[in-house]
Amino acid sequence: MEHDHVRAVDPAVADALENEVDRQRSTLQMIASENHVSKAVLDAQGSALTNKYAEGYPGERYYGGCEYADEVEQYAIDRATELFGAEHVNVQPHSGTQANQAVYFAMLEPGDKILSLDLTHGGHLSHGHPANFVGQLYDVEQYEVNPETGYLDYEGLAEQAEAFDPDIIVSGYSAYPRDIEWERIQEAADAVDAYHLADIAHITGLVAAGVHDSPVGIADFVTGSTHKTIRSGRGGIVMTSEEYADGIDSAVFPGGQGGPLMHNIAGKAVGFKEALEPEFEDYAEQTVANAKALGESLVDNGFSLVSGGTDNHLVLVDLRESHPDTSGGTAEEALEAAGIVLNGNTVPGETRSPFDPSGIRAGTPGLTTRGFDEDDCRTVGDLIARVVDNPDDQSVLEEVREEVESLCAENPLYEDE
Ligand SMILES: *Cc1c(COP(=O)(O)O)cnc(C)c1O
Repeated sequence: MEHDHVRAVDPAVADALENEVDRQRSTLQMIASENHVSKAVLDAQGSALTNKYAEGYPGERYYGGCEYADEVEQYAIDRATELFGAEHVNVQPHSGTQANQAVYFAMLEPGDKILSLDLTHGGHLSHGHPANFVGQLYDVEQYEVNPETGYLDYEGLAEQAEAFDPDIIVSGYSAYPRDIEWERIQEAADAVDAYHLADIAHITGLVAAGVHDSPVGIADFVTGSTHKTIRSGRGGIVMTSEEYADGIDSAVFPGGQGGPLMHNIAGKAVGFKEALEPEFEDYAEQTVANAKALGESLVDNGFSLVSGGTDNHLVLVDLRESHPDTSGGTAEEALEAAGIVLNGNTVPGETRSPFDPSGIRAGTPGLTTRGFDEDDCRTVGDLIARVVDNPDDQSVLEEVREEVESLCAENPLYEDE
């Protein structure tokens, strides 16, 4: 990938950009929230729409010259509507976090009650962690997964909702490897007359492809990131029914944002078009098959997985029993040295610090995009095991690094290269 125009002005940044492309090409991107967008999406994001102010919505802007911005945003909305079947879609949130903020801002008053999953059990900062403003502005109580099984405890959640009487229940997670039963969470919300926000940030692509059940039509609000499994332009999305449409639109703009990032919205439009193609369904199915193969390989290598396996695109490894002397942080560092990029992650019942937790989280969206199949992912599981079993052995790290490079060469990042 050339960055000639950047190089002519700023060789230092051009070097960093090229090094980043090489890094993505020659190492395994297994951070579960990441993916590789197509060159079409990259092009759209790098387009002249970055120059355009388009505050407002298609047909009702506060600036002139918006005819093409309107077209692009409407394509993004129409395609998202086709993908997800929501009555109302807003594609302007700058990120999934902003999408969640729009829902809180539209529906809650400061001090209102949010019931959401604990961060160390797989929740997200934007669901009310004390370090996030959501945790400071609202009264947040958190639920947990069943510590024995690693699965959501739907009955416990319903009981906790009865006791806490929340204004909104948040579902959808960052590190939960199992299918989510939206109806059961909806029942818990209905029983206490609370709203239900289903945040599908990680699984937006799986839901779009029909590989994971959709909360659209069940939950009052569905939010997501648009650059994770769905690999479109970077940002967020909010979906809701006609009833809440105006409230959500005003909460996104002017409530929480100024000018929309029109170049990213172009990337969303293009990525959503790609997601409407039949190949995207194959991609989503392969992503899940790959995560299962990776999980099985890790289990065969003696690791334990939270919940014992996976139904989606990620596995969460609890290192405490199999590798009591290796933290998630140590494993992450050793793996990165060997060309396998993933993250240390907290696990349910975390006993270490969030900065150096007891687990690692690994996802297959990026590998699947570049063509990895189940056999490749089983090999990757073996490589992860070799590294985590020997995190201090430089010769093991080097050997694995070489194997990673040949896997990458067999599955190039861009097909035309
Ligand atoms: C990734 C994620 C988000 C949003 O992330 P952004 O980086 O703001 O797009 C929101 N919720 C969950 C559950 C996530 O995993």
